[in-house]
Amino acid sequence: MKKNISLLGATGSIGIQTIDILASNPDKFELVSFAAGMNMDKVREIAMSFQPKVISVIQREDAARLQAEFPSIKFVYGQEGLVEVAAHTGADILVNAVIGSVGLAPTLEAIRSGITIAIANKETLVAAGDIVMAEARKYNVPILPVDSEHSALFQSLNGENPKQISRLILTASGGSFRNLTRAELSTVTVEEALAHPNWSMGNKLTIDSATMMNKGLEVIEAHHLFNVPYEQIDVLLHRESIIHSMVEFEDTSVMAQLGSPDMRVPIQYALTYPERIPMQNPKALRLEEIGQLNFEKMDFVRFKALALAYTAGKEGGTMPAAMNAANEIAVSLFMKGIIPFLEIDHIVERVMEAHQTIQQPTLEAIMEVDLNTRKIVYAMIN
Ligand code: MG
Repeated sequence: MKKNISLLGATGSIGIQTIDILASNPDKFELVSFAAGMNMDKVREIAMSFQPKVISVIQREDAARLQAEFPSIKFVYGQEGLVEVAAHTGADILVNAVIGSVGLAPTLEAIRSGITIAIANKETLVAAGDIVMAEARKYNVPILPVDSEHSALFQSLNGENPKQISRLILTASGGSFRNLTRAELSTVTVEEALAHPNWSMGNKLTIDSATMMNKGLEVIEAHHLFNVPYEQIDVLLHRESIIHSMVEFEDTSVMAQLGSPDMRVPIQYALTYPERIPMQNPKALRLEEIGQLNFEKMDFVRFKALALAYTAGKEGGTMPAAMNAANEIAVSLFMKGIIPFLEIDHIVERVMEAHQTIQQPTLEAIMEVDLNTRKIVYAMIN
């Protein structure tokens, strides 16, 4: 039986790789709906080859123009369009690959419609992990990780008793600036930050990798996905990105998942779980060609954003949402050349120092913190 797939963020890095997997396996998957941002040529291309039922774009004018070109497809737009794509099209799996906390509302709608979530949108779990996971339990909906680290943890936990976990060990490549000291970071450029040594990812994620905030968001994501306390989640610097993450059990056994850095593997596994299928144009791992794997202890002074994320996660409540919103805006300001690289950490730190955490917040409280924090960061810059 074919699986019906909905996809949010179809023209982003994860979205394009998801489309690749669907295109290679037309007997296994049907794309029933998707949402995309501003790349209308790519939207046309996907619309033509997959003929989905519903497509959402950001702008109303784009939706109107495309509607005239594709009368048999329903076009919607904006935040409401995202929710419609996520929840109302008879999908079996929603691949949520949008960037930022904008992915939160559609994720919750899909859960309430009983649709399995393949989550690549880590900001959703960071901002509202307690609420998302509680809803998933209530509606008995699986949340399958797409992030490579979390897919590795998920695979390493296959058939294991979660009560016997002693540690989750997330690996980190170190990002674009892993060979620079903190002082040397003061003059780095946007172009330098966007050149990731191992992974090909979207811009926001690549900047987050360079600050190590990406790993911080992933620590919080792991806490929610696997229900493991922060004290039992470690990060290990591993330059080669071959071990994607590990689980240590109480008998000291460590299970790891390895592979060449290729995001299509965790994406495909989330789509085919619990089955595996062959990979198109595979990049098989040949350890004899790699020769050596290296590991280093994480430096929390050098990678300050990681320390901030642990602090936010342990504090809980609305603090991770405030941290995440501050980071989203700070990263966008850096990419526009408005602030220097190290200012990203400073902005996040200042926002966290000023934030009055609300414990056990409602979804509305989280959304309000998210919105207000964005305004606070813009006010800081002006
Ligand atoms: Mg990752």
